[in-house]
Amino acid sequence: MTTTSSLFDLFGDLVIYRNLDALDDRLPRFAEAYADMGLPSPIPPRKLDAAYAQALAWLLERSRELAGRPPLTELVYIGDTMLNDGGAFTNLRAHTGWPGWCFIGAEKDEELAVAERNGLYQANRWAALAEFLGWVQSQGAALGAGTAVIIDIDKTLLAARGRNDGTLDRARVVAVEATVAGALGAQFDRDGFRRVYAVLNTTRYHGLTGDNQDIVAYICLMLSAELDTLEHLQAEVASGRLVDFRDFMAQMDAQPGRLAAKGLLALHQEIYGLVREGDQTPFKAFRRREYVETVSRMGHLPEHAPLAQRLVDEVCMTQEVLDVALWLKARGCLLLASSDKPDEATMPTPDLVARGYQPLHRTATHIVGQSIADLLPAQEF
Ligand SMILES: [Mg+2]
Repeated sequence: MTTTSSLFDLFGDLVIYRNLDALDDRLPRFAEAYADMGLPSPIPPRKLDAAYAQALAWLLERSRELAGRPPLTELVYIGDTMLNDGGAFTNLRAHTGWPGWCFIGAEKDEELAVAERNGLYQANRWAALAEFLGWVQSQGAALGAGTAVIIDIDKTLLAARGRNDGTLDRARVVAVEATVAGALGAQFDRDGFRRVYAVLNTTRYHGLTGDNQDIVAYICLMLSAELDTLEHLQAEVASGRLVDFRDFMAQMDAQPGRLAAKGLLALHQEIYGLVREGDQTPFKAFRRREYVETVSRMGHLPEHAPLAQRLVDEVCMTQEVLDVALWLKARGCLLLASSDKPDEATMPTPDLVARGYQPLHRTATHIVGQSIADLLPAQEF
């Protein structure tokens, strides 16, 4: 039988999304706490910024105080991307001065390979978390009440990279398409949209889009509305005349009549205004849709659904990461979950609450993967 669990079961409300506002309302909002954290601005830093680690360390320390726990002395981090998770881990270890160890996992259909460098342990099996724990202990880690454990959510604890991560990507693509279709109504051309999205959602256009899905969605909307053509945009980018999405938005802003004729003026003005305020997730309608598309893919398949279908259709919890998290929790470690998703992609609006929707972290889903509980070191109490 497949069982279910939610992030709340593991972390309570100690879940931190992109804007660095903990869901636990005993912790202050980032906008109220940034000065206390020693940061210069209420605009939340990105995961790779040193300031992000500074904020995370502050939130860990405040969480520890609230729980009346002993001082934190070491760090364990579990994630799926060397750049983002490895970078955030390295920054956090440098900022705190604690010894620390980081697991970067994925499931790949190739021979088992494990690499270790500077406290970063990379493996192509999620089950290698068992060896990781043994390795961390052999390095002298106490793994107890003084250990802060940060677990990445997207494609780590949920939708394991290499196994189930396509579900999160599909939820997002469906959300972009539905948002653009909703904004354009009868003018929407699905094939045209998909052609534009396939081009813009690539690393080649990261310079223009800032690798930001809100911006990809915005530009797709404008091209779908024929306010510019893909060919013209490509030529502008290739020639170096267009390097920043803000310039593209300014070009749109200079055509209020055409925007109004397409019924997009108010939406453009809202998004453009938020961009100018420094909001990194300015396309709110898209992110709200992403929330719906994500939670509607959690825990929704029946118990007897075939595994192959579950891996494609359901955003599942990763058994191996869950086993390790439960093991660390049983030893008294302080567990915190971290995600790059913005609030709008994780919390229901009041009308969705009325229809029974729960925050993403309280939405239960099925657990899939290989149980490694029996491979973990025996607990000594
Ligand atoms: Mg991730």
